[in-house]
Amino acid sequence: MSNLIDPIIQHAEAHPERVAIHTSSGPWSYDELLARSLRYAGLLAAHGIGAGDRVLLAAPSCPEFVVAYMGIQALGATVVPINTMSTEPEAAYYLTDAGATLAISWHEVGPAVSRAADGAGIIHLTLTTGADTDSTPLAWVIDRDPAETAAILYTSGTTGRPKGAELGVANLLAAGQIGCAVAGTSGEDRTGTALPLFHVFGQAAVMMATFTGGGSLSLLPKFTPQGLIDLLRRDKLTVMCGVPTMWNAMLHAADDADSADFATLRVAVSGGASLPGEVARAFEEKFGCTILEGYGLTETTAFGAFNDVERGGKIGSVGRVVPRLDMQIRTTDGAVCGPGEVGEIFVRGDTVFKGYRNRPDATAAALTADGWFRTGDLGVFDAEHDLRIVDRLKDMIIRGGYNVYPSEVEEVLYAHPDVVEAAVVGIPDEYYGEEVAAVVTPRSGSVLTAADLDTWTRERLSAYKIPRIIQFVEQLPKGTTGKILKRDIDRDQLRAAA
Ligand code: ATP
Repeated sequence: MSNLIDPIIQHAEAHPERVAIHTSSGPWSYDELLARSLRYAGLLAAHGIGAGDRVLLAAPSCPEFVVAYMGIQALGATVVPINTMSTEPEAAYYLTDAGATLAISWHEVGPAVSRAADGAGIIHLTLTTGADTDSTPLAWVIDRDPAETAAILYTSGTTGRPKGAELGVANLLAAGQIGCAVAGTSGEDRTGTALPLFHVFGQAAVMMATFTGGGSLSLLPKFTPQGLIDLLRRDKLTVMCGVPTMWNAMLHAADDADSADFATLRVAVSGGASLPGEVARAFEEKFGCTILEGYGLTETTAFGAFNDVERGGKIGSVGRVVPRLDMQIRTTDGAVCGPGEVGEIFVRGDTVFKGYRNRPDATAAALTADGWFRTGDLGVFDAEHDLRIVDRLKDMIIRGGYNVYPSEVEEVLYAHPDVVEAAVVGIPDEYYGEEVAAVVTPRSGSVLTAADLDTWTRERLSAYKIPRIIQFVEQLPKGTTGKILKRDIDRDQLRAAA
């Protein structure tokens, strides 16, 4: 029996004064975080919430998110964290699909959630600074079956409505333990992030891992490169977690500090999207730390494979399969691939989700009868059993019968000194079936041309991989974690530019 709040209880008992969260108005100890969470649980209980209920939570990454999240867990209820930018119809869909009976939204989030809750005839609570309430704290924490659903996280996918991935208590506890193991985190660590906690990476690999290790958490509600650099300095962070676009933006931020200024930083944990080698190397040099790239999905509670501190980061690889998980690379016929052979990544083990809520067909398509989850990602093991992510199966471009992996082309584009960001996509082509197109953000003030990039890529890639269509833009479309959203790139506009 267990509960996601257990690590906080354990640290509050063992060393109550140790800092759990740094807030803009001073630190909260483990004892204080626990007390606030249990008071919040008391408030929810007063509104009739109990074991098995679903509670929607729309809040940015802030200490109050943690209080509400853990309050919901203490009661044995299920949290449904949603994007703070959700519109009213989106919030209404999540409420209905999850069968939520109460909705909480942060006071600065617009009225979408409260209106959706009104529409659904359910209770709405506003979460305010401190998340403090004068409610009677919950007297005891519910001991849950580890298989119960602790959280439902909606993943957008490319088609259809978002699917609610059900993550069990055991999934999130395992993710916390794995997160500590790969980054070597302990009670001495100060971890910081600008990732949204409503997304799996922030929730499992940062929040759960930090509280499992017993260190402190620093949160930046809205990412800006300077904001994260300032947080790093303010809280003397030892661990930072983010996506490659964040590291890249921090490198290009006009901060002339050198690595001595960031002496406390030990590790940067990178995930969510492929980390270009150039960005990794430059980041390690400027920030004087090791960058550890990992790979995971919402459905694997953020953990699939990870580089770990003990072996050090291997640039270009996402490391080995994490403890408590099995991984296979399979051909389209289902045969297990050997080292060097590209195929689809399958995983099985403690972080694999329970299934998609209300979606038996999608669940059956994703999970085999013997518990293997098909990721939809292409990967390859090297001789040392380190995994390299080749690309998403659905992003692979087939040009004239040849497979082009966009990430390989992007890697070459990122290596150009005047390229800040790049995304490579396939667009329909009458002759080749698909043509390779690149959308590039140039360094400001540079005079980069399509001809320059054509020469650059031709010197480094086989002819069929060269982007024939190149478009320059000021900004690439990004999701809430800061990941580049290829599905939002306007293919028609690219085709017209051809
Ligand atoms: P959503 O819009 O719901 O976030 P998503 O497909 O991005 O959709 P996630 O679960 O957040 O959903 O992301 C998982 C995907 O991110 C993986 O399937 C993989 O394609 C990609 N990914 C994660 N880590 C890496 C990595 N280190 N290198 C390359 N790709 C990665």
